[in-house]
Amino acid sequence: MAAPVNIIVGSHVWVEHPELAWVDGEVFKISAEEVHVHTTNGQTVITNISKVFPKDTEAPPGGVDDMTKLSYLHEPGVLHNLAARYELNEIYTYTGNILIAINPFQRLPHLYDTHMMEQYKGAQFGELSPHVFAIADVAYRAMINEGKSNSILVSGESGAGKTETTKMLMRYLAYLGGRSGVEGRTVEQQVLESNPVLEAFGNAKTVRNNNSSRFGKFVELQFDKNGRISGAAVRTYLLERSRVCQISDPERNYHCFYLLCAAPPEVREKFKLGDPKSFHYLNQSNCYALDGVDDTEEYLATRRAMDIVGISEEEQDAIFRVVAAILHLGNIEFAKGEEADSSVIKDEKSRCDAKSLEDALINRVMVTPEEVITRTLDPVAAVGSRDALAKTVYSRLFDWLVDKINSSIGQDPNSRTIIGVLDIYGFESFKLNSFEQFCINFTNEKLQQHFNQHVFKMEQEEYTKEEINWSYIEFVDNQDVLDLIEKKPGGIIALLDEACMFPKSTHETFAQKLYQTFKSNKRFIKPKLSRTSFTISHYAGEVTYLADLFLDKNKDYVVAEHQVLLTASKCPFVSGLFPPLPEESSKSSKFSSIGSRFKLQLQSLMETLNSTEPHYIRCVKPNNALRPAIFENANIIQQLRCGGVLEAIRISCAGYPTRRTFYEFLHRFGVLAPDVLDGNYDDKVACEKILDKMGLKGYQIGKTKVFLRAGQMAELDARRAEVL
Ligand code: ADP
Ligand code: MG
Repeated sequence: MAAPVNIIVGSHVWVEHPELAWVDGEVFKISAEEVHVHTTNGQTVITNISKVFPKDTEAPPGGVDDMTKLSYLHEPGVLHNLAARYELNEIYTYTGNILIAINPFQRLPHLYDTHMMEQYKGAQFGELSPHVFAIADVAYRAMINEGKSNSILVSGESGAGKTETTKMLMRYLAYLGGRSGVEGRTVEQQVLESNPVLEAFGNAKTVRNNNSSRFGKFVELQFDKNGRISGAAVRTYLLERSRVCQISDPERNYHCFYLLCAAPPEVREKFKLGDPKSFHYLNQSNCYALDGVDDTEEYLATRRAMDIVGISEEEQDAIFRVVAAILHLGNIEFAKGEEADSSVIKDEKSRCDAKSLEDALINRVMVTPEEVITRTLDPVAAVGSRDALAKTVYSRLFDWLVDKINSSIGQDPNSRTIIGVLDIYGFESFKLNSFEQFCINFTNEKLQQHFNQHVFKMEQEEYTKEEINWSYIEFVDNQDVLDLIEKKPGGIIALLDEACMFPKSTHETFAQKLYQTFKSNKRFIKPKLSRTSFTISHYAGEVTYLADLFLDKNKDYVVAEHQVLLTASKCPFVSGLFPPLPEESSKSSKFSSIGSRFKLQLQSLMETLNSTEPHYIRCVKPNNALRPAIFENANIIQQLRCGGVLEAIRISCAGYPTRRTFYEFLHRFGVLAPDVLDGNYDDKVACEKILDKMGLKGYQIGKTKVFLRAGQMAELDARRAEVL
């Protein structure tokens, strides 16, 4: 977005500001390339003329509901528009078809009530204020009218509002595709109630969000030929396992642990639970209660949701028994044993008496070609073993819940169209980034490519196909980053798997291998002075990863002793979570890695998304204090950039954001010129005549379609409304 040069003394302009990102002011002097500005916050700024942008003094004070309607489209204009709207609690704004949603951090109940849903039902897109319901409505109508699957991709950083948005979308789709008047456990009810169940087990308080989803989620709503929800499937991605045994202040473990500790007395009695402060897995942080959340009430609500989803009373009992068992397991402590490098369980605190558990925690059987050796673990290793067991059990429990939800809601084998809703972690770049951030950012590269391809490539291809004039706008393709990460062989994931299979590798040898392999890769940087970290130049910026735990975190296996222990469990629920491994796989111990498995999951997700018509919602977190009415400019700009919003605005406005086939166009706008319709022209000529009659300029006529500039469709619609 280059600045126009028509800036004179007296012009109202935007200039860059170190904290506020942009501030407005008036030019009082221009000398050669330098512009002198009095800013509205009382400063005098002198800057190069290429760095100031004209301010639209005519812009409506409350902002415009679609950025493509802005007369001056540039970064400060976009930001100012969002800020003006946010101040009036207008949290939604379109950028063409993309919806930007800024987290209000306060309940806006009227915005989502039944009356609102009724209003959006079937309304023309753009007629009402921007809203998640409008996006869901477009997706639903497109599905009904074109018989094609649709998807809605919700993205944004942690705490931006993705999960709340997703729930709103699902609620609205359930309203459109539900059976009104039918009571009880309908498919749509089950779909909606799967949310609180998954949240209880997969969400936790973090510093970024009090209810942070620690997994990615794709919900596929299946529809029958009458447009009714007939089935649903939930796919989840990469649950954060480490949280089960390790939390840092002031975060919390998964909600389910706290709500179980706050369950009615008879439940706590049954599971021998008490104060959460007495459990090692919870007392590593000083945060126990959440503001405005009553864990006892949450426990009951979770049980009710489980009822509706179709999880039986016995199953619920077994689930919470496992949750309690994990807490007790975490309290097992180890002391040095009599022999070197061995341990014994300190049993004052723990409630564990089973010999087999003890064995599984403190011994390892090593099978060498010559013999079978039983090796003991020292207390530190035994703690590691205990925690590994807890993580394995918890992640199997979570997977079980997802499977149960899917089988209970049921899939509709006859459904031909779906609406998919994706709620997945946004781009992450922290001070320390590890394997989790690597996987998350890999996901975002994939999604960014999908977005690029959709918004940009499709656009350009369409113009080429229709043979219309179009000066090609370049966009940044990120295929090279994806190759760096996932190419087989030779990409980072493949090299990581190799390192994991080779017994002598360390994180240092892994890092060295990366440095050698990608020496001349433009997207890969070896930080100076570092021996184990590497930097990837992502589409959203550079991120430096610490390779130290990559090998450990990539290995996906259950310790053989734990597998044996759990398969043999007397509790059928637990043994069901650990079906015996088939003979040969346990022997040859086929290597499976988290990275590769995740890559396959992503591939399958992309295949699904590619078979749908996508819609995008970009959630924005206006401040890090999680408070209403604070709009941090620089922070927000960064998010708009990462989400590709600024780039999409540039592309969409430069081109022809609206297009209609000649037939569609005549069908819709024929009323504007009945004489043309009667004139027996061919469709293409008829369209041209109507457009000329309306005095529109700058549009293009392709081979089969009319291409309109931003805003022209609205103009035609307004004329049409006058005639009708
Ligand atoms: P994310 O899934 O992107 O990490 P969430 O959807 O969990 O973020 O939102 C974080 C918090 O922000 C929510 O718990 C809620 O308090 C608030 N929030 C998000 N969206 C809305 C909304 N539309 N209305 C009111 N509050 C919201
Ligand atoms: Mg979330």
